[in-house]
Amino acid sequence: MSSVTIPDLPLDRESLLAEPATICAWLQESDPARLSRLWETADRVRRRYVGDEVFLRAIIEFSNYCVRRCAYCGIRAPNTRLARYRMNPEEIAACAARAMDAGIRTIVLQAGEDPALDAEWVAGVIRRVKSLGPVAITLSLGERSDEELLLWREAGADRYLLRFETSNPTLYGLYHPGRSDGRARSRVEMLHALRRLDYEVGSGVMIGLPGQTWADLAEDLRLFAELDLDMIGCGPFILHPDTPLGDWAIAEREGLVAAIGQAYFGQNLSQTSEELQGLSRVAAAISEGALGGEGVEEIRCFAGLRDLQPQQPNFLASPGCGYQESRKGMADGRMPSALCGGETSAWPPSAGADQVPPDELTTYKVIALARILCPWANIPATTALATLNPTMGRRLGLRRGANIIMPNFTPPHYRTDYQIYPGKAETLENPDNTLAGILAALAAENRPLGQGTGVSKNYLRRKGLLPA
Ligand code: SAM
Repeated sequence: MSSVTIPDLPLDRESLLAEPATICAWLQESDPARLSRLWETADRVRRRYVGDEVFLRAIIEFSNYCVRRCAYCGIRAPNTRLARYRMNPEEIAACAARAMDAGIRTIVLQAGEDPALDAEWVAGVIRRVKSLGPVAITLSLGERSDEELLLWREAGADRYLLRFETSNPTLYGLYHPGRSDGRARSRVEMLHALRRLDYEVGSGVMIGLPGQTWADLAEDLRLFAELDLDMIGCGPFILHPDTPLGDWAIAEREGLVAAIGQAYFGQNLSQTSEELQGLSRVAAAISEGALGGEGVEEIRCFAGLRDLQPQQPNFLASPGCGYQESRKGMADGRMPSALCGGETSAWPPSAGADQVPPDELTTYKVIALARILCPWANIPATTALATLNPTMGRRLGLRRGANIIMPNFTPPHYRTDYQIYPGKAETLENPDNTLAGILAALAAENRPLGQGTGVSKNYLRRKGLLPA
């Protein structure tokens, strides 16, 4: 989709909902002055509807067992490159107690979709955490039956997080194979069930999944408003190597190295050669977006092989090679289509020029637009955002519409095995991700720490409980 240059794009909730193309235009906006308007509007709406307080939610990732095979997720069932763990109730309660000692009044219990987490067992954990003191419990356990959801609500669970991941049913189907026991359910239908069962209801999407178009993302945002969500969590897609998407990206990168190798040497290179290592550096630079321009000089420089002369000087520019498309796609954070031979396949999905990039700027735009569309919702500056920008990601999220941060209280020895994507912020030794670091960020942003459980104002509003 080409960039849109409407001088005075409307930014109020009604106009955005009346014309989804306007949401699409804002998502693609690049003009700094207009983006400032977006950030300022989101910040103003946030202050007016949910105030300045920032609430902390302690997340405990208590099981990484998962029966699902989501094509992007590192804890998917077929991934054998991690140790599986399931914490016992004592361990979970100890983590919750630590969070409560730190003054946090919401515990998020998250896990893979793990049927071995028996409904009664989970209800027992809920009661046990609730017995520790005044605390709200958010569950994030994937797709479960109405009976289980009711049992847990009665046991004291207050909230449930279930991202619908993408509103595009074709894309959703490509990434989410069903469960072998046939127990998968429609996520949107489950969000309605959660609402009927009187949960505070949270959902969200990943930003920049290969195949996701701007129009898809605009529809995701519109659906947030239609679902009248109480909580909205969105973060960038981050490639995990031990997933089908990761396998594909590695194969693509290897294909790129082979194509460049052919261009320079007219032959396939041996695995251990200095040339191949140089060209691998080129491919890495391309995928990290560090390589611009037209190729040949840069390749020489990045490969550290300065005396190289291309065997076929025009090879890289020839359409059959696919190098230019690959370079551009990877630099944009997009997944290029098949490298050589010009063949494209159904997997992974490709949105071509309409592909949403999985980047920081788009994530801020989604947070800001979600705030304007759902002014009373609780919206976190997510961990995935902090992974892309460890020092400023959360702070910029808070400036652009967010009012929630979710520090991780999973015991450190389990965290590395809850790698839904690599480099997850709090698995790194980074002071910005400790509770002290988060509190320092709030102080630097002049935002007070929320007191109490921080019930969603949207939930209170729809129950008629929000004071005028
Ligand atoms: N099993 C529960 C569920 O399905 O809702 C909760 C755990 S699941 C791992 C939590 C979220 O992680 C998903 O909703 C998805 O959006 C996100 N996620 C998984 N893989 C990701 C990736 N590679 N990059 C970014 N987010 C990812």
